Amino acid sequence: MALLEVDNVHAYYGNIHALNGVSISVEEGEIVSLIGGNGAGKTTTLRSISGLLVPREGSIIFEGEDISGYKAHELVSKGIAMVPEGRGVFAKLTVLENLEMGAYHRKDKDGIAEDLREMYDLFPRLEERKSQVAGTLSGGEQQMLATARALMSRPKLLLMDEPSMGLAPVLVEAIFDTCTSINLAGTTILLVEQNAHMALQIANRGYVLQTGEIVLQDTADNLQQNEMVQKAYLGID
Ligand code: ATP
Repeated sequence: MALLEVDNVHAYYGNIHALNGVSISVEEGEIVSLIGGNGAGKTTTLRSISGLLVPREGSIIFEGEDISGYKAHELVSKGIAMVPEGRGVFAKLTVLENLEMGAYHRKDKDGIAEDLREMYDLFPRLEERKSQVAGTLSGGEQQMLATARALMSRPKLLLMDEPSMGLAPVLVEAIFDTCTSINLAGTTILLVEQNAHMALQIANRGYVLQTGEIVLQDTADNLQQNEMVQKAYLGID
């Protein structure tokens, strides 16, 4: 049984049919990348999985349970956390307060302290700036904070929306390296990216989304060799 099974999901914004029968599966332990251009429906797919948008049709099964209709905060308790596009850190709270917010539903104080230590090991910059308000961090630091905050909920599945957006190339590499480390430490990742090159490099499998429909799915290696993917998303003629 897959950890996540998205089956034939249709989602709308008013009359706009943003997802037209999207099906995606993610096995435990994988990194799966969802690539596609502007407006293809990548964010909408993640919003549907994380409970921010209720699909009009289709099912979303997580660990064998249909979770469509659950609220986002209920899904955090079930083990799904999202790092939103644009990061969405609490600008007026300190780094430490942001991290504590990520663990708000947890009661295991010792576990929380242990995870905080782990986040500071993963992102030493966050420890250096733990008392600084998040709004004054650089873009790369905010991305680290948003990722660490999501991990503080101890998710089984981490949804990441365009983590490379707006970052300098050297930071983009660092963020993708972090995705790999997080995954090796046991967290399954569904990654949405316009940077198909990096996204396919770190993924096991991938899906290509175009105007609300999955048009291709394969191993990440095969997608990197696929002519359509090379032309449309990897800039190779
Ligand atoms: P991007 O990389 O630009 O964020 P995306 O692949 O994540 O693109 P979505 O944001 O999921 O795409 O958008 C899918 C479709 O839904 C687009 O046609 C978009 O214009 C539309 N859409 C997205 N959000 C809204 C909204 N809040 N209200 C109305 N339409 C929306």
